[in-house]
Order: sequence, then C-alpha cells, then structure tokens
Amino acid sequence: MLNFLSYQPINQYQSTIRKINQSYYVIKKYSNEQLKQQTEKLKLDIKDHNTNLDETLIEAFATVKAAIFRAINITLFDVQLLGGLILHKNNIAEMKTGEGKTLVALLPAYFNALYMKGVHIITVNNYLAERDAKLATTIFNYLGITVGTITEKTHYQNRKQEYWKNITYITNSELGFDYLRDNMAINQSDIMQRNLYYAIVDEVDSILIDEARTPLIISGETTISNNLYEKSKETSYKLINTIHYQVDEKARNITLTEEGVSICEKILNIENLYNLNSPWLKYIINSLKAKELFFKNKDYIVKDNKIIIVDEFTGRVMEGRRWSDGLHQSIEAKENVQIEKENKTLASITYQNLFLLYTKLCGMTGTAKTEENEFLNIYKMNVIEIPTNEKCIRKDLADLVYQSEYTKWQAIASECLDMHKIGRPTLIGTTSIEKSELLANMLDELSISYNLLNAKPENNNKEAKIISEAGKKYKITISTNMAGRGTDIILGGSEKKMTEEAIQHYIINSINNNVKNKKNTEVKQILNITEIQVLDQFINQSIKNHQNLSEITKNIYDAEYNDNLYQIYQKLKNTYKKICDQEKKDIIKLGGLYVIGTERHESRRIDNQLRGRAGRQGDKGTSRFFLSLQDNLFRIFGGNNIKKLMTNLQIDDNTAIESVILSKSLSNAQKKVEAYFYDIRKQLFEYDEVINNQRKAIYKERKSILNSSFTKDCILEYGEYTIKEMLKSYDKNRKNTLILEQILQLLNIGQYVNIAFLKDTKIKDLEQILYQQFRISYDLKETYLEQLRPGLIRQLEKYYLLQQIDKAWQEHIEKMNLLKEYIGWRSYGQQEPLIEYKNEGFHLFINMTTYIRQTVIYLIMRSRLIIDITNQ
Ligand code: ADP
Repeated sequence: MLNFLSYQPINQYQSTIRKINQSYYVIKKYSNEQLKQQTEKLKLDIKDHNTNLDETLIEAFATVKAAIFRAINITLFDVQLLGGLILHKNNIAEMKTGEGKTLVALLPAYFNALYMKGVHIITVNNYLAERDAKLATTIFNYLGITVGTITEKTHYQNRKQEYWKNITYITNSELGFDYLRDNMAINQSDIMQRNLYYAIVDEVDSILIDEARTPLIISGETTISNNLYEKSKETSYKLINTIHYQVDEKARNITLTEEGVSICEKILNIENLYNLNSPWLKYIINSLKAKELFFKNKDYIVKDNKIIIVDEFTGRVMEGRRWSDGLHQSIEAKENVQIEKENKTLASITYQNLFLLYTKLCGMTGTAKTEENEFLNIYKMNVIEIPTNEKCIRKDLADLVYQSEYTKWQAIASECLDMHKIGRPTLIGTTSIEKSELLANMLDELSISYNLLNAKPENNNKEAKIISEAGKKYKITISTNMAGRGTDIILGGSEKKMTEEAIQHYIINSINNNVKNKKNTEVKQILNITEIQVLDQFINQSIKNHQNLSEITKNIYDAEYNDNLYQIYQKLKNTYKKICDQEKKDIIKLGGLYVIGTERHESRRIDNQLRGRAGRQGDKGTSRFFLSLQDNLFRIFGGNNIKKLMTNLQIDDNTAIESVILSKSLSNAQKKVEAYFYDIRKQLFEYDEVINNQRKAIYKERKSILNSSFTKDCILEYGEYTIKEMLKSYDKNRKNTLILEQILQLLNIGQYVNIAFLKDTKIKDLEQILYQQFRISYDLKETYLEQLRPGLIRQLEKYYLLQQIDKAWQEHIEKMNLLKEYIGWRSYGQQEPLIEYKNEGFHLFINMTTYIRQTVIYLIMRSRLIIDITNQ
C-alpha cells in the first residue's frame, strides 16, 4: 500500500482508493461483454439515483482500471487513482513526468462522460491529441465509449461529429478557434460545439499560464499602406536608444522620450504624434519593438520569405500564428520580406476566459505548484501535489556560475565530452535556436555526435524519435525548451519504438529489394525461417494490394486478428526489451540521465520541467544548471547584489562558483520575475474581463437568435426599445421635433402619422401609439413579403440581426483595442486606467447595442426585395 498518508489533503482519499481497488478485483473477472455493460449500468445508476454518487464514482474508476488492464496490460498505480480523483474534484493534479498522466485522465473522463454532455481532453499539440486519442480508443472500445479527435488537420465537416463523441481529444487552439467560429455561424447547423461542460487540460500550466498572454484571434484583412511600415522603420533607425526612447526589457515595451516625440514629429512632418486620429504612434512603437526586442532565430525565424514565430516556451515554430496589431508587419519590414496585409480582429478570446466557460474544469501537469496562487485566484482550482509512485532519487546539483557566457559554454561542452566518453545519456536544454546551434558547433569541434532538437522546421518531425532515443547510451541531446514536448525519456530506449523501427526498415528494404541492410539482418537474426516467411508473405501481399508503408506497418502493429503476425511482433518486442533492459542497467550504473540547464528561465516552473526529465519512475538521474553573469536573468533581474557578490569573491574568469547564497539570490530573482509576469497576466485578465462580459452578452443574444425559429419577437422588441430610447431624448426637449421625425423615418411610417398630432401627445401615449403603428406597419410588411415568398420574412429577420450584430461587434472590438492602447498612452496618474477603461468600455458597449437595434429596424423596415426576388 502506498505511503502517502503523510500528505494532508490526500488522506481523505485513502478509503476511496481502497474501495476502487476492491471493486476492481471484482470487475476484472468480468467477461468482455459484462465489462462493456458497465457503461449502461453506471449511466442508469446516475440517472435514476440508484446508488449514491460516490459509489458510482468508485465503480466507474474501477471499471476504467479494469479496461486499461485488459486493453494494454497495465495496472494503474494507486497514485494514478488519486490523480484521477483530484481531477474529478476540479483541481490540478501535479504529477511528475513519467507518472502516467495520459492514463490518469481516462478515469474522470469516463465518469464524467456518463452524463452524456461531452468531455474534452485538451492537449498542447496535434501529436499528443492524436497519440492519446488512439490509446484512449483502444481502452474505451472495451467500454463502448466513443472517442473523438480534433486537430488542425480535422476537416470542418467532420468536427461536429467529433465533438459529439463521448470524449474528445482536442488541442487548445482548435478548441478556441472553433468556439469563436461557432459564434460567427450564420446557420444553426454550422455550429460544431456543444455547451462546454467538462475539460481536463493536459500540461495545464503551458496552456493557462504560458499562453495566457496570447489571445486567440480570428481576423480578416484590412488595407493599410505598406508605406506606413517602411517610413516607421526608417524613422526608428534614426532614433537613438536612451536618448529618444527607453527600452523596458522586462515589460517588452518601448516608451518615447520627449526628445523622441519631437524628432518623430519633425521627421514625419506632423504636428502632434499623440493625436488619436494620427496613425503614426502605433507604427513607430512597433518598429522600435522590432528593432530592439524581437530577434531573428530567437523570437522568430525567416523561412520562405516569411516571418514565423518561435514559441518562447517550447522553442517550436508556430506556423500561421502572427503577432497582432501590426507588430508582425513591422518585423516583416525590418527583415525586408514581403509585408502581409494587416488584419482586423473579427473575434477574439483569451485562454483564460475560454476555459472559464466550462462548467467543470481541471488540469494536470508536472509543474504547477510554483503558480498555485494564480490557479486558485483566476481559475478557482487548487494545485495538489501527487506523490510519485516510486521515490524520486534524482540529484539536483547546485548551480555553477561563471563570469562570462563564453566560459560557461566551454564548460558545458567539456561536460558533454566527459559524459560522452563514459556513455551516459545527457540532455542539454537551451533557450534559443542560436544557442543550441552554438553548442552544436562546439560539440562538432570536439567530434561528439549529438541530436539537435530545435524550432527549425526540419527537426519537427523527428521530435518524438529524438526524444525516445535520448535515454540511450552515448546519446547527447540538445533541445530548445523541453516544455510540452510530450514524450518521456526512457532509460535504455523504448522497446516498442525499436521494434516498430526495425519492422519499418524491413518493409522499406522489402519494397526496395535491399536485403543486406543491417536492420534486416537484425530482424532475421531474431526470427526463425518460418517466421520470416510469414512476414515476407504478408508484406508482399500488402505491396501487391498497393498498400503504402504506413498502412503495412500499422497492420503489423495491430495484428491481433492475425495470430502468426502477432507472435512475430511480440517476439521482436521481447527481444528488444531484453536489449533495452540491459542497457538501462548499464546506464543506471553511470547515474541515469543527466540533464544540463544552460540558463535559468524566467520561471522556476520551466526549469523544473527540464529537470523533471531525469529521474522518472524512481530511476537514478542528475540535473545541474550552468549559468553565467551575462545571462538574461542576471542582467535584467539579478540586480547588483549578485554582481557585488561575484566581485567580492574575486574569482577569475574560468572558475565557476558553486554557491548556495548565489543560487538562493537567483531563485529570489526568479520569484520576482514570476510575480512580475503574474501581475501582467492578472492585469490582462482584469482588462479582458470587461470585454469578456460584453462578449458573453453578445454571444448569448446571438445564439438565442440563431436558435430561434420565430425572430419576429426580437424585431418587435428591438423596435419598441428603439422607440423608447429615442422618445427619452425627445422628452428632454420637446420643442425639437426632429427626433420625432427621425423615429418616423427610422420606422418607415412617416406616411401614416401626422407629426403635428403627435407633438401634443403625452409621452406615455405617444409611446403606445408608435408601438402600435410600428406593429401594424410591420404586420403589413410581413403579409406583403409572405405573399411573395412564404417564410422569407423570418429568413430576412435572422439575416439582418446576425449581420448587424457581427458587424457592430467587430467594430466594437477594434474600438476597445484602441481604447486600451490610448488609455495606456494618455498621461498617467489622473485616473486609474482600468476604471477609465471600464467606464468608457461600458459606454461604447451601450452605444453599440443601440446602434444594432436601430440599424436592424431601419434595414428591415426598408427591405422590399422586389428586385432580389424576381432575380432569383
Ligand atoms: P506523463 O504524461 O505523466 O509524463 P505518460 O502518460 O506519458 O506520462 O506515461 C509514461 C509511460 O508510463 C508510458 O509509456 C505509459 O504507458 C507508462 N505507464 C503509465 N502508467 C503505468 C503503470 N501504472 N504501470 C506501468 N507503466 C505505466
């Protein structure tokens, strides 16, 4: 039994876990048929309240545990059951790398799927969504639960069907974009998602913290002259840092000095740079940002004459993503590549607000504890640390700090040489492509072979393979940030991967008739003659049937239906297992995987992710960070204390110091940075909340219109509301009959009503008269249109309503964006900017809703459509 009694919040789950295991031993003996029947039984239990919910939960978890064992022959550990319970309680389960989170998610996913409202398991990339969904399908086949997958590649026509499966694996960005697209749908049948009910977010810190600052945006093109970018670029290069502008590296922001403002005005020949109607300020700031804060091969790469963003955290390229508000264009201008048209935001949402739309939300990751306040304050989720199944015995050695970056990299290269000599697998985490290549060059000079995993596109496809090999003897792996890379590193390598690779090579060589290849000899050494004949026969037949490599390989892996083939696959796998096991033993003697960090990240969490690659499932392992005083963290956040400390210690250039005090100051610097970024995210969240509430209101209205089959009520309501609003203004100054005329004109009823008569009527009566006139006039219009084509009026209503809401909302988003920027640029100190933003945002919103009602009424009252109809 597990020793997690000492974990306070966890004690309460002890007896539940015991009961799950008891139930598991019963269910494990069920026939396949009985096991499958569990799902219907549990659904009924929930629906009819047959048992109390806790008991159903216990039985559901036990059922999944049994299905997992049956499908893949793995018995869930108690810590995994615990993780599942924490997820079910809408919290974050912090479980270290390699603890088997993929399977943990299946437990609460199954239980919550029994409610038939949809369960989403959200992953950071396509690869993980596909991989995990495949595994889940194998397991849930035993329980009659359907599993869907949605990645970038999933066609829009198929998405709805995938969303309606019991459990859907989906990437965070597809989920967000589909949500936005659904809220722009013109037909009810185009809506893909159900109401967002229960989500399990994998790598929850990557999604809710690292990505929280980047909103998802759906955009359309606008036309802005390229000249603006070019001219701003030229101007930015005439300005001098610290004299004309200040760079705030921390906030990644630029502010112009007074001198800067006046020189810009002179160059651009304008009177006031801060005039809200002048476009220049935004472009100048963007050009300066491009010049000072965004670097090639670190923040972006240039490929095929395009600027492609490199994800700051995973180090991977993000094809198709663009920086917003013209920043991307400024960088394009800087790099002299083609400047794409600037985009106008049509819809947008941040991940923060997207995930808060779920009725139930939970998440899992290896690293969340450092950000637990944020998770609690913003998402109302507790972070609960789940003990590891085996005790973690990784040694985290003290940092080594060098005076200069150069000596640091030399020391790292020489450490790699030492490790390579003894064959100990080593993983080096770097923070940019440039640095990973710098190290690669140094290793080339020392004739050390290595694998390089960075954001360059040519490396992307090799990712899973490189990581799966990183735990083998003599492997040196250089990787830009390892966060979210999914696959875990197995000491000695993975027998499954080795088997699959050997089979693939064998097939390729059969296709090419190349029998002498080394791998073939390997396969031939393992298998006997009869087995080789069976394999050859199968491959030849498949080739004749025009199957391609991946089809043939897949058929061999999943060869349960073909006994001989299955035996062959198992035999190969068992042999490779022996090889891997032996290699693992050797590596453990050498100390296990060695992880080298080359720079402290701004957040301790990202460092922990890197360290966590070593020492999985109780394996031996070591981690150490090599740092230098020239590293960003020291430079920007370290302050003078650390520098003083180094000077006081009077160490020469080549000696590293290993000091606890230094490491502590560093951790403090990191904590400061974390707090700083948290504040930024909190601020973003507070600002975003304003537009989020507005978005909710608009989407709700839109949805009810889209789902309604009788929109006439809505039109009448809009009409009456508009009359009321306008009469209010009229009431303030009854001498001015212009408003009355406007009302009549708007409602298109001028010809039926006499202004002179209205002038002397009481407001309350006037309201009733106008309401009535509006209704009569609308009924007439309806009758007229019904004659032309039955049902047309309803279509028209819906069309105008949706069209005007969308148009007004898009304009509103633009205005809100500008408002935010301008409030930031306006003089500080007068009023709390957030309050100003809220107040002005509120007015803008009210104006927008009034505008929507008025234009819809105006358009519908004037729709005659004679021409349109005869043309059809
Ligand atoms: P994580 O996401 O927590 O890093 P994974 O879900 O990728 O871990 O699982 C790591 C490996 O451990 C996988 O190969 C998985 O099959 C294996 N695994 C998971 N649970 C168990 C278990 N209870 N017993 C044995 N192996 C397990």
